[in-house]
Amino acid sequence: MNDRERSIETQLIHAGEPRPRIQGAVVMPIFQSSTYDYDGEPNYHDVRYIRLNNNPNQLVLNEKIATLEGTQDALVTSSGMAAISATLLTVLSAGDHLLALDCLYGGTHGFVTKDVPRYDISHSFIDGDDSDSWEQWLTPKTKAVYIETLTNPLLQVADIQAVAKFAKKHGLVSIIDNTFASPVNFRPAEWGIDLVIESCTKFMNGHSDLVAGSVAGKRDMIRHIKERLDHLGGSLDPHACFLLHRGLKTLAIRVRYQNESALKIARYLSQHSGVERVNYPGLESHPQHTRAAELFDGFGGMISFELHGGGETADRFLKKSELAAVAVSMGGPETLMVRPSQAVHSNLSPEERARSGISETLIRLSVGLEATEDIIADFDQALSMVPSATA
Ligand code: PLP
Repeated sequence: MNDRERSIETQLIHAGEPRPRIQGAVVMPIFQSSTYDYDGEPNYHDVRYIRLNNNPNQLVLNEKIATLEGTQDALVTSSGMAAISATLLTVLSAGDHLLALDCLYGGTHGFVTKDVPRYDISHSFIDGDDSDSWEQWLTPKTKAVYIETLTNPLLQVADIQAVAKFAKKHGLVSIIDNTFASPVNFRPAEWGIDLVIESCTKFMNGHSDLVAGSVAGKRDMIRHIKERLDHLGGSLDPHACFLLHRGLKTLAIRVRYQNESALKIARYLSQHSGVERVNYPGLESHPQHTRAAELFDGFGGMISFELHGGGETADRFLKKSELAAVAVSMGGPETLMVRPSQAVHSNLSPEERARSGISETLIRLSVGLEATEDIIADFDQALSMVPSATA
């Protein structure tokens, strides 16, 4: 049987692995060599050199990630932002126009609004929930549409099927940042999206100990992105490849546990009198719950919520939690919490934050691998100082 026909648990362990095994090693060895015997490669991009993204550790990951995403090819990169920047700078040229979701990860928002315009590439933001409104933003120079599977930090779910259809109809390249879901919960290529990006720093690696990214799609597109990345210099170091490779093997069991735990925690938070609002696509009250249930195999390990009271109340709650670390990032074994207005989205102006619905009291939670009941007990004691709705 072909790896592609197997379940994701099996693909995580076996896809892309060298056969026969190298020197019989069950685990892929680290090729800590920057250069290799020159073998007459006529094309610069095929010369075997560490920055040219063809080290054996990089190649194994490319094949494994392509299998997980269900695409022809994939490219591992030195960070999620390296994947995002190399992809956008490949798909777009001077004079082009991009449609982008109006609530993007802060780093991507900064890249699209501050860096990309320097290359004479313009953009318009679209409401991911209102497909009827997209056509008005099209120009003859529109080349691509860029969305995220679950928005950060509000966990909204864009009309992804409509985005794929819209892109096909208008000849645009559709690009999605699937970091919050990972291919365990969602495989956008199955729904017609052209390029799938992951910040592998998060769930893909799952151990909060490296920075990496990936982009997956059709072979010719990935080849173009690789050639751009070769020049931009965003290749992943072999040792980081080894760590990501090791982390990936447990992706399915980690993410499934986080899905289950997050749903229980979201339910707990939503019935607590000190909590004003919970954003989690697994809750029936979430505005796009039906869409999420149709698209996703699981609702993910990310929750955001607002407490009654102001920013200081949110800060006191964060301080009072004994288990959650107050830190950016997500997808690791440790539960993490952060106030996006103070950290992840602090590069947005207060007006931009208000427009995006990011309040001062909003807390983003990345559910770790601790026992769910311990996290709930910890939140219960930490929430005891939060004013209730009726107080
Ligand atoms: N995409 C999303 C949704 C993210 O949350 C992040 C980082 O937090 C990135 C991309 C960027 O990834 P990296 O930090 O690996 O460059």
